[in-house]
Amino acid sequence: MSQTFNADHLDVPRFTREGAELVGNDALSKYERLIIEALDPKSPDTLNTPVSWQAQGEMTEDASGHQVHWLNLQAHTHLPMTCQRCLTPVQAALSVDQRYRFVASEDQAMAEDDEAEEDLLVLSREFNLRELVEDELLMALPLVPRHEVCPGDVRMSAQDEDFEQDDKKANPFAVLSSLKKK
Ligand SMILES: [Zn+2]
Repeated sequence: MSQTFNADHLDVPRFTREGAELVGNDALSKYERLIIEALDPKSPDTLNTPVSWQAQGEMTEDASGHQVHWLNLQAHTHLPMTCQRCLTPVQAALSVDQRYRFVASEDQAMAEDDEAEEDLLVLSREFNLRELVEDELLMALPLVPRHEVCPGDVRMSAQDEDFEQDDKKANPFAVLSSLKKK
C-alpha cells in the first residue's frame, strides 16, 4: 500500500501500473450527499459512523498489446433510516463490490457502455475516488429500508412471510445485515 496516492486526486495510470492499493476509514460526515439520506444526519452517532473502503489498481494488456487499466472497489457503511414497515429506526447496511475499466474519454465510455460487462470510467490523473465511493454507496441504498424482523412484532412478520421471501431475493443487504447481527 502506497501512501503517495491521494484518494481525492488519484493518478489512475500510476495506481494501476503499480498494482497499488488504497484503504480508507472515513467518517460519514465526509460524505455530504450520503448523510442527508440518514434519519438523523446531524446526530454525532451518524456523523461519526465509519465508512470503510478499499481500492486496488490493476493493469492488463489487451490482444493488441494496449494497456488496460482496472479498478476494484469495495466499500461498507451503515445508515440509520426509517423502517417502512414499523416506522422505527433501522440500520441499513450498505455494501459495494465493483470492478471498473478505465477508457480514454467520455465518448468512448458512451460507445462501449452497452457492450461492456464491467462499469466504465474515464481515465484521469486527478480521479476523485471518494466521489466514486459516495456514488456507489448512494446506489446501494435500499429502496424500501426495513428490519428483517421488526422489533416486538414477530406476529406481523410471520403473516407476510411470502412477501418477505420475495424481498430477500431482491435485496442482497438482507444477507449482510443478518450476518452482522450474528
Ligand atoms: Zn421495522
